[in-house]
Amino acid sequence: MLRVRALSVAPGQPSTAAVEERSDPDPAEGSVLVEGLLVGMCGTDVEIAEDGFGIPPPGAERIVLGHESLGRVLEAAGGFAVGDLVAGVVRRPDGCGACAADQWDMCVGGEFLERGIRRADGYGATRWRADPRFLVRLDPALDELGVLLEPTTVVAKAWEQVERIGSRAWWQPRTVLITGAGPIGLLAALLGVQRGLDVHVVDLMADGPKPLLVDDLGATYHSVPVAETGLRPDVVIECTGVSSVVWDCLNQLAPGAVVCLAGISAGRAELDRTAAVAARELLLSNEVVFGTVNAGARHHGQAALALARADPSWLRRLITRRVPLADWPQALERRSGDVKVVVDLRA
Ligand code: BGC
Repeated sequence: MLRVRALSVAPGQPSTAAVEERSDPDPAEGSVLVEGLLVGMCGTDVEIAEDGFGIPPPGAERIVLGHESLGRVLEAAGGFAVGDLVAGVVRRPDGCGACAADQWDMCVGGEFLERGIRRADGYGATRWRADPRFLVRLDPALDELGVLLEPTTVVAKAWEQVERIGSRAWWQPRTVLITGAGPIGLLAALLGVQRGLDVHVVDLMADGPKPLLVDDLGATYHSVPVAETGLRPDVVIECTGVSSVVWDCLNQLAPGAVVCLAGISAGRAELDRTAAVAARELLLSNEVVFGTVNAGARHHGQAALALARADPSWLRRLITRRVPLADWPQALERRSGDVKVVVDLRA
């Protein structure tokens, strides 16, 4: 039996992060066998390792990380051919109505699984399996940039929801404010520019690759607090999860603005105290604040399209660090100049 190498950790115990040897994945995990090429690391992986955010599979103490995946099909099945470039879908539905409609991102049952995050091992392994329903075939031209599919699905959903909410009434958005220039913020900015909007990105980091990445998109970078930008945005995509930043955004919206909370907030206390005032202001200007997590079936197609339309050399610059599998715990470190860090499963 072939041995599989996987990157795993016991949630909340970063010192346990290691490469594990496992047996070949069980065919019960899905009919398509995939060679793992890359996994992207994000703040959620760091939270799992350091803060114990994730939940290992039933009966296990460790979880294989890796929800941002890229692989190549090894055994043809379910309409996939050997050699197809693929990415795995993160969430597995429960039996609720939203999940039955392939909208597992809107799950109301609460029993969903997430590969690499919640009660299921992830794609950070040299070989993994998935059901064809939860596998996305990528344009071979994307090559290694396919590892950006999952974070792009998250922003594709955010933009789709912004537009659906905005279209409840007459709405002609022009100015977009994105808070946070990490991978989610930068990809959200890309999709905003693709829509022909005037995109502004706020991030306190004044040096490193972020300002130039934003300039080269044709968007505007501000390394000052939101309150000092003087912007009155029609759309906000909040990617920091910092409650004071959320609050500053709410204080300077254009009438009818749609505010999408896409960053997970560390605490609610500060917002609670001011919620009553915020509610009055939101009401008087017909504003909408909504939260978004994960991505449903249709957002994977939207994300693939957005990546195909993007300049590949710009996308390539988002991947700022590459760590070989043997050293993967280094991918959890935050280093200056990092945007997207990936683990090379073949190195
Ligand atoms: C992932 C989502 C997931 C969310 C909550 C994010 O990092 O990109 O797919 O639903 O974490 O677990």
